Amino acid sequence: MGITTLERSKPKKNVHDSFIPELVYFEPASLDYPKGRSIMEWVQSLHIPYRMTTSHNRITNLPGDTELEQYKIAKRTLVVGIRKTLKFDTSKPSAEYAIPIATGCMGHCHYCYLQTTLGAKPYIRVYVNTDDILAAAKGYIDERIPEITRFEAACTSDPVGLEPITGSLRELIAFMADQEYGRLRFVTKFHYVDSLLHLKHNGHTRIRFSVNAKYVIKHFEPSTSRFEDRIEAAAKIARAGYPLGFIIAPIIWHDGWQEGYAELLSSLAEALPEDASRNLTFELIQHRFTKTAKNVIERRYPRTKLEMDIEKRKYKWGRWGQGKYVYPDEQAEALRMFISERIFEHFEDAKIEYFT
Ligand code: SF4
Repeated sequence: MGITTLERSKPKKNVHDSFIPELVYFEPASLDYPKGRSIMEWVQSLHIPYRMTTSHNRITNLPGDTELEQYKIAKRTLVVGIRKTLKFDTSKPSAEYAIPIATGCMGHCHYCYLQTTLGAKPYIRVYVNTDDILAAAKGYIDERIPEITRFEAACTSDPVGLEPITGSLRELIAFMADQEYGRLRFVTKFHYVDSLLHLKHNGHTRIRFSVNAKYVIKHFEPSTSRFEDRIEAAAKIARAGYPLGFIIAPIIWHDGWQEGYAELLSSLAEALPEDASRNLTFELIQHRFTKTAKNVIERRYPRTKLEMDIEKRKYKWGRWGQGKYVYPDEQAEALRMFISERIFEHFEDAKIEYFT
């Protein structure tokens, strides 16, 4: 590790710019792939410091004196590697499988489950061997024919946030366009969709945007795209003929939540083209947390306003060990009812896929 490091001044950024890491690691074998080489050229052209590493899973010498500093730096560190595990995880309820093109995210959403699932490895890993990943996906599709197999590309990352660097979604969308029995879906809080608009997709990729009441975006979603930019991107996606969806998550009970969610739905209706409601889906996920997540979030975002009072929640048993704290039934039902009504008020043909 550490064979090459360029320390130069960093490029200037403005709020609409896509993510530029502060430090990049490469597995040497990643440079045997065109994607690895083109990321290297990009890194060098921007004079971003980079190092070589033996494994994308063992980045141990990140700068920073405290755990918190290291965490913040990790969120701005990109690791370019080869995906070796080609056994896909399941991804219910939104899809059959998670398709792994990246792990980790530059966003700082306080409630994000990656805080706990990625443990001590919050840095951002991208995988350059897309052909291997697509070959594995093809295997999963063939196994289930004549059933349709859906792949979720955003289980462990926000792939749109990384698309300007990797171009991996473009490859997945093009591949899935030709799969009679395969479908792709992903969700994002970023707006970098321009490179996806002209692609042949055959309606086989559903792009969903994660949206929320203003209060939630303002207090809990730093380092993601602004709401207005996400909605503008959603309108472009609708016009490009992609199946479109919204995930409202996490739905958070807060002072003025009814006004907040009502305003959210009316601004979506205003911004979208008129026929967007055809084939439009919504997924509704109430806020939940585990005890472990609560501890991690309080350490990483010590001043967070995120309410995680166990006394006010209902305990829901988990299938594998640790259960989650959700809203008590009465509150959850009030949220579900109110938001569903607002959805159908503005988008009468939309489908609510689930509330969980
Ligand atoms: S954008 Fe998504 S993946 Fe990234 S931190 Fe926020 S919730 Fe997590």
